[in-house]
Parts: sequence; structure tokens; C-alpha cells
Amino acid sequence: MRIAIIGSGIAGLGAAWLLSREHEVVLFEANDYLGGHTHTHEVSVDGVTLSVDTGFIVHNPVHYPLLTQLFGELGVATQDTTMSFSVHNERTGLEYNATSLGALFCQRRNLLSPRFLRMVADLLRFYRIAPGLLAGSGPGPALGDYLREQGFGDAFRDDHLVPMASALWSAPADQILHFPVRHLVQFMTNHQMLQLAGRSQWKVVRGGSWRYVETLRQRCSASLRLATPVHAVRRLEQGVALTTAAGEEAFDQVVLACHSDQALSLLSDAEDRERDVLGAITYQPNDVVLHTDERLLPRNRKAWAAWNAYIGADAARACTVSYCMNLLQGLPVSTPVVVTLNRCDAIDPLHILKRVRYHHPVFTREAVAAQARRHEIQGRRGTWFAGAYWGWGFHEDGLRSAVEVARSLGVAWPEISLEPRAVDHAAAGKIAWGSA
Ligand SMILES: Cc1cc2nc3c(=O)[nH]c(=O)nc-3n(C[C@H](O)[C@H](O)[C@H](O)COP(=O)(O)OP(=O)(O)OC[C@H]3O[C@@H](n4cnc5c(N)ncnc54)[C@H](O)[C@@H]3O)c2cc1C
Repeated sequence: MRIAIIGSGIAGLGAAWLLSREHEVVLFEANDYLGGHTHTHEVSVDGVTLSVDTGFIVHNPVHYPLLTQLFGELGVATQDTTMSFSVHNERTGLEYNATSLGALFCQRRNLLSPRFLRMVADLLRFYRIAPGLLAGSGPGPALGDYLREQGFGDAFRDDHLVPMASALWSAPADQILHFPVRHLVQFMTNHQMLQLAGRSQWKVVRGGSWRYVETLRQRCSASLRLATPVHAVRRLEQGVALTTAAGEEAFDQVVLACHSDQALSLLSDAEDRERDVLGAITYQPNDVVLHTDERLLPRNRKAWAAWNAYIGADAARACTVSYCMNLLQGLPVSTPVVVTLNRCDAIDPLHILKRVRYHHPVFTREAVAAQARRHEIQGRRGTWFAGAYWGWGFHEDGLRSAVEVARSLGVAWPEISLEPRAVDHAAAGKIAWGSA
């Protein structure tokens, strides 16, 4: 078959890599680089040339089994990293690093602060009782309602749980409070975030994530068309037609490996069910800046972590988090190299190395319901949809969606099961701070 793939993020690249084993594949990418959210920049800091990631950074073998298998087959070298987490609240001046007891109380005043101690107690209670939510069905109440009903305090909500979830999904605080609580707890449980011991080791690709994209490019026999945005997809009696600046071109099948909203806008003859499902999973923009302005990290160096959440004055503002890339990628320079989301105006322009804009899926109740209807639109009229938005929005989800499409089109890889990982309820009740 002749198959077109639109988009070269992990979903499109994964699909191209697999489908080109059995089929003739043409991959269309709007950008002038391959990888989508896998985006590495070569910059010079302290006279050293560094490859720094601004998109996909971390994974771990337990929760990313397909990606780990892919990296293994490609011979991609990885190295251990830390996923430590800190919070800085601008209004109250609170700073803590959730990685260890010493760093947690890096501001000694917190030892005597009733608000802070209540936050710690609430956190322990949340980790103890939240896994119980998984016994129910459906998405459950909104996170904000659940926390109120269960009597959790403001400090736990505003100074810990919401900033952490905001940082994870790059979403504003008020959106996180509308997040279906069962979905959140399911994610935290699956990712061993509610346990102290036995967490899996997080990893980064050595030399930057672009290393795996480059290896994949070399091993993949698909024909690659960079800087070639597809303008429309039209279904034919037999097959599909894609419109680009060069005109219309026919294929037997198309895999839309772009975001759900982009996919919908490309379909010139969308059916109601495609509009309903894809239209319910929306995306929001995030401004990302790579820079060396250390003022974007916590004031107290002891609080510096891999992920540093910042709580500004306005809860409706987009999430602001700064990744310390020195810690995450083990960069061999002493100047802090930082990736900050949605706080561009606070960064000294003289310290800015790169500016990028990415879009993240928004996981509302409607979006979660739409995910469950994927089978209604998948594979109809030669049209397939792949992307991280079908799962939790992470790299493994993007690859998984590609593997599923490839399987449906006759290319089976790998031998491991695609069933969702079983939840470890026994481990889930234990307590965690930060992450390994
Ligand atoms: C700042 C940031 C950090 C992240 N960190 C992590 C992390 O550490 N770990 C993790 O697991 N996940 C992380 N993620 C999540 C990440 O988005 C997913 O892991 C995954 O990379 C998304 O893959 P995708 O293939 O679904 O989409 P994308 O990577 O966005 O790819 C979609 C592609 O489609 C192309 N496209 C769109 N429209 C067209 C068109 N009309 N014609 C041709 N091409 C088109 C786009 O240009 C793009 O290249 C991060 C995301 C961001 C933004």
C-alpha cells in the first residue's frame, strides 16, 4: 500500500518507521526539522557547545516500555537523571524542594509554620486515601470538588498538588482543578508517584533527544518531505487525496500524526463523529524559553530542583515551570541552563538562547470521554489518527498510538503487550516526596 503520514513527532516517526517495513510510506512535516516536540538545540554556554532539549526530555523503562524497546533496537544511549521537584510561591515567599526532608525544610521557618505542616499532613493523607478512588468507575468529581469534599487545606492544594499537576501537564491552575480526579490519581498511581520506595529510574537520551530522531531517520526507509505542510485531506471513493503547495496527491491510506485539532481542521469532508471526537480534545499554547537567567529558579539554591514550579499571583495564568537542564541532562557547565514555560516576560532578554511555542492537549472531562470513542473514527475511509493525545499526552502515548495503527495496517511490533499497565494498588498507598 502507499501510505501518507502527516507529522513527524514520535507518533508520526514511529508510524513511519514501522509501516515502511511493509508499505511505501511518505512522511509530510510542516517544520524544517524532524521530531515535533522532540526538539534539541545546539547552544554555547561557558564556551562549551551543548545539545539542550526544550521538548521531550525524560522517560523511564517501567512506564515507557515501547520507547525503551525502540531505543534498545536503535542502540540509543541513555543516562540516568533526577526528577526532583520544587515550589516557589511568589506571594508568600514559600520555597521548598520535595526531594528530601532537608530540602523540604530548606526554609527553616517552615518547621514552625502551621500552614506548611498542615500541607505535609494533607499530602500524606492524600497519598493514603486517593488510590481508593480507583475502585470506582467513570472520571469521578473534578479535582477541586474532591479536595473540598475531603477537607484538604488550601496549602496542599495551592502549594503542592496543583503546581505539581500544572507542571506535569503544562496547564493553568484553574484548569487542573477541573481535571477529573480519578484520571489524575490513575496517572499518579501508574507512575508510582504515590509511593516512596521502588520507583523507576528516570532517564534522558545522552547528547539530547535528537539523537534518537537522527538514528530513526537513518534506519527508516520512508520518503521524508520536510517543510511541506499538508493543507487538506479529502477522502476518495478508493483511498485519500492530500493537498500540499505542490498540488494534490493520492494515497491508499493516511495517518494523521498531528494534534487532534490540526487533524480535524485538515479533513475537508469530516464526518460528525470525527468532529465530535477530535473536537473534544483541544490543545493550548505554551511559550517555552531556553535561557541562562538563574532568577527563574528558586532564590534559595538548596531548593533548586530538576522541575521548579512557580506560583504567581494569578491562578488563571498558564502554568509556569522552569526545568534546570544542568540537573536533567547532566550538562558540564556551572551556569544554570534553564527551560522556562510561560514566564517569558520575567527573563532577562540578554540571557535568552531560544524561544519556541508548543501546544499541549487539554484533558477535560469531555476529552477523556472522547478518547474512549477512538474506535469510532479509527481506520474509516482510509484515515487513521495517531498522537500522544490519545493517552496521557506523553512520549510513550505517542509511540503507542503509532504501534496500534501499524498493527491495524499489518505491521506487528513489538512482542510486548499493548494492554495498559495494571495498577499496583499495594504500592500505591505508600508515601512519596518528589521523585527519584
Ligand atoms: C516542553 C515540553 C516538554 C515535554 N517533556 C516531555 C517529557 O519529558 N517526557 C514525555 O514523555 N513527554 C514530554 N512532553 C510531551 C510531548 O508532547 C509528547 O511526549 C510527544 O512528543 C508528542 O508527540 P506527538 O507525535 O503526538 O506530537 P508532536 O511531537 O507535536 O508532532 C506533531 C507534528 O505534526 C506536525 N504537523 C502538524 N500539522 C501538520 C501539517 N498540516 N502538515 C505537516 N505536518 C504537520 C507538526 O509540525 C509536528 O512536527 C513534553 C512536551 C513539551 C511541549
